[in-house]
Amino acid sequence: MMATTHALAGVVLGTAVWALVPEAGMLPVLAAALGGLFPDFDLYAGHRKTLHFPVYFSALAAPAVAVAALNPTTTTLAVALFLAAAALHSASDVLGGGLELKPWLGTSERAVYDHWNGRWLAPKRLIRYDGAPEDLALTLAFAVPPVLVFDGLAETLVIAAVAVSGVYVLLRKPMVAIAETAVDAMPDHVVDYMPERFVRDFR
Ligand SMILES: [Zn+2]
Repeated sequence: MMATTHALAGVVLGTAVWALVPEAGMLPVLAAALGGLFPDFDLYAGHRKTLHFPVYFSALAAPAVAVAALNPTTTTLAVALFLAAAALHSASDVLGGGLELKPWLGTSERAVYDHWNGRWLAPKRLIRYDGAPEDLALTLAFAVPPVLVFDGLAETLVIAAVAVSGVYVLLRKPMVAIAETAVDAMPDHVVDYMPERFVRDFR
């Protein structure tokens, strides 16, 4: 799934919590969005392994949610939502496609790494690949609650995330074709600096 889909999934959690505890303000909602985004910061270094922890994020989120439920402050809610959204992201990556550059071909058996069991989880491909039409449908669905509930900057950011997703969906396949042509045209000493994962799939 797209990073924006994950971020908005976090925002849906944040919106639900905001509806229950509006006095905590918008910081927990922001933390939820960042938690949803966070695992994908490993895109260039061990993607879906370095910062994706389907088991550990969940193990951390459970006590954090318990603390926030007993003592709902801006801080406890922000911490709990960040961890819950990061756990949701890591766990739900298994529902998407594999790690290959053309995940729509469905050749990779690696969806997300489970550090607890020391193995890759296989992709279930309910969302065939990141940037698939069904991924965009999910993004749109996740955008509905926050757009209905929030005004101003929060609403604008959610709509911007949907717009970015729309552009990404349009460019997802052409981007790979362009990158393939570019890598083919590059001299070897430049290719040496590219992440191994990209080059391996291209050459
Ligand atoms: Zn991810």
